[in-house]
Amino acid sequence: MNPHGGRSAGAATAPAANREVLLGFFGVFRYSRRAVQLVWETNRALLLAMALLTLAAGLLPAAVAWIGAQIVDAVVYARNAAGHNAVRVLRLVLLEGCLVAGVAGAQRGLSLCQALLRAQLGQRVNVMILEKALTLELQHFEDSEFYDKLTRARREASSRPLSLVMRTFGLTQNAISLLSYAVLLVRFSPWTMLVLLVAGLPAFVAEAKFSGDAFRLFRWRSPETRMQVYLETVLAREDHVKEVKLFGLGPRLLQRYRDIFTRLYREDRALAIRRDSWGFALSLLATATLYGAYAWIALSTIRERITLGQMTMYLLLFRQGQGAVSAILSAVGGMYEDNLYLSTLYEYLETPVTTPVGSAPRGPLPSDGVRFEHVSFTYPGAAEPALSDIDLHLTPGCSLALVGENGSGKTTLIKLLTRLYSPDSGRILIDGLPLPEWSEDALRARIGVIFQDFTRYQMLVGENVGAGDERYFEDEQRWHDAAEKGRAADFIQQLPRGYRTQLGKWFKDGQELSGGQWQKIALARAFMRIDADILVLDEPTAAMDARAEAEIFEHFRTLARDRITILISHRFSTVRMADQIAVLNYGRIIEKGSHEQLMAEGGHYAQLFALQARGYR
Ligand code: ADP
Repeated sequence: MNPHGGRSAGAATAPAANREVLLGFFGVFRYSRRAVQLVWETNRALLLAMALLTLAAGLLPAAVAWIGAQIVDAVVYARNAAGHNAVRVLRLVLLEGCLVAGVAGAQRGLSLCQALLRAQLGQRVNVMILEKALTLELQHFEDSEFYDKLTRARREASSRPLSLVMRTFGLTQNAISLLSYAVLLVRFSPWTMLVLLVAGLPAFVAEAKFSGDAFRLFRWRSPETRMQVYLETVLAREDHVKEVKLFGLGPRLLQRYRDIFTRLYREDRALAIRRDSWGFALSLLATATLYGAYAWIALSTIRERITLGQMTMYLLLFRQGQGAVSAILSAVGGMYEDNLYLSTLYEYLETPVTTPVGSAPRGPLPSDGVRFEHVSFTYPGAAEPALSDIDLHLTPGCSLALVGENGSGKTTLIKLLTRLYSPDSGRILIDGLPLPEWSEDALRARIGVIFQDFTRYQMLVGENVGAGDERYFEDEQRWHDAAEKGRAADFIQQLPRGYRTQLGKWFKDGQELSGGQWQKIALARAFMRIDADILVLDEPTAAMDARAEAEIFEHFRTLARDRITILISHRFSTVRMADQIAVLNYGRIIEKGSHEQLMAEGGHYAQLFALQARGYR
């Protein structure tokens, strides 16, 4: 299996695909060990109980068969010896009954352990997936191939470790049974074992091949499955319903959803038909073998090579032996399949993350502020750079406004400053220390950002404010102060349960807010970071009117006197208040200076300003 190939597997040529199957096949036990380890870490007691029950369930059937033979022979003997051994027969029958009850008990016990483990293991794997998600970087989530990995891991992998472990146990159980049958069967003829194995092998090879095919289908399809999940979201979630209804998009999107299914179903059906036709043909082979052996055993009895009791035993052993062989083979086939699926889980869990190396809590020049030096950046896979050769210097107490058309790189600049992405060339320094050298926590404490697409948590109003500083997430006093500063306090007090009002429509009694109200919440969130000395507002006031925005920015500046404020806005009435204005165009800074300087220059800024001012007149 190709551990790196997202879609590359799809392009694999036939020999390469065969090699993949082979490699994967010999790697069958690679993930089995990890799956057992995972279960061991999840619940040792249950795993041990399962091991013991497996042993019991493996040994008991042979014992039952052996006692069965004793019973028949004891009956035959008792009839010939005129009734002397009836007690012995009854005792054997009782013993067999107990053993059969034991088998049933062991199987029930196994399924109980399995049910309990399934729940615990599912939760554990999901937590592992989410924990990993926390360590990933923004760019991972924006990368569709990576997203496919995540989707695949989430969809299948939580049930696969248990399945793999169950199959490993099933395999052991059947192997133990088979071994115990073998001990009894070789007394009839050593060839019987060979017959059993040879009859099962073709079915096994076919099964392994089809498992591989099914897995490759699953892998290629991730983009389509993801589209289906996405369409489900768009069609049935409150934040999309409004548009879908008014634009009448429903039927069209539903049709797309259906089309994807039809396409996938066609492939599924073809595979299922092939799998089951071959399965049936090969099972005929197995039946023929069984009945051949039946005839052989019957003839041996007629020739009095074996007793009647032995005949019943051998027939039973043979039948069960064949069951065990096919169970073993299908367990190995299933393990192969589980391993393939688990490989997607581990592929995801082992996605390399570049752990920030820095550990410095402060820089050497505390009053140097923020510097961008010849910073350039291109998004992975993009043809054009989003930022080119950016130079900026902001000292404490300074406010900067970023101006430019949509797509000119304003948000990207903020993403680089907050280390969500790293520049391809050039460097960014805070207090004279390059960003990569800062410790994660120190950096986070220094910078407060509100993005234009800030998150609307479906939680309490207060928590929505508190989210701005995780340490005070539940601190009511801080909620109040921050809401006051963000001008959100007035409307929050009007809400039915004040700061403890549930927001959003997903949960009971959830309140919806207007766009402007949400923005006030977001602003309040920015004010939670009272010790952050670099504050960034990326158009969080766009839904407010121009006057409210200007007022808020003014207020923001007074509160943030010794700090660095960076503001992105399309409103020149606000922009003009900033100490420095940088005009971005296609990722470059084309003009920089104060409002007065830029107006005097009569360049791009002056033109845009005049244009907007005319609009207001
Ligand atoms: P602005 O904030 O000025 O509207 P952005 O910084 O968001 O602009 O975008 C700058 C450029 O980078 C645009 O051309 C945009 O298409 C591109 N871009 C933005 N985000 C991404 C991303 N996650 N992946 C690839 N390209 C992106």
